[in-house]
Amino acid sequence: MPPQKPITVEICAIDRASYRLEAHEVLLPGELGLFAVLPGHAPLVATLDIGTVRVRLTSGETKLFAINGGLVRVFQDEVLVLSRTAEGPSDIDVERAQASRERAQGRLSGSLDDIDTIRAHAALRRAVARLDAAGASAHA
Ligand code: ATP
Repeated sequence: MPPQKPITVEICAIDRASYRLEAHEVLLPGELGLFAVLPGHAPLVATLDIGTVRVRLTSGETKLFAINGGLVRVFQDEVLVLSRTAEGPSDIDVERAQASRERAQGRLSGSLDDIDTIRAHAALRRAVARLDAAGASAHA
């Protein structure tokens, strides 16, 4: 069997250098649900949700990145993710994400107006995605 052609994955946020990786598969948190991109995928532009991008590298390792929504473009075996924020496992401050999760949970357990509830839910989901990407989702 010929070697599998890799796909190039670029994950760009507003405020940090882009991540660039060679991969065999990428799993993305689409607004309409999780979807996978493999080599030879049809061209695509889709909106993304808060969540975790899972990149199965050509080395066999899987790397996770937390993103805060955005867009993905797939074209000619290149996957370009544009998000407001994106962090890889080594860039995630686990204590900060845990504190953020607790703050949001505390807010949601109190009485909030609709706007605050939406904000607290989004903050909670960002924190959970960061803990997931850091492999720390089970930590207290
Ligand atoms: P916090 O309440 O801790 O500020 P947040 O979800 O409100 O979290 P964002 O507004 O999404 O934070 O991000 C602001 C900046 O801080 C971005 O550059 C983002 O990459 C960075 N950031 C947020 N949380 C973390 C974290 N736990 N580890 C590393 N960087 C983080």
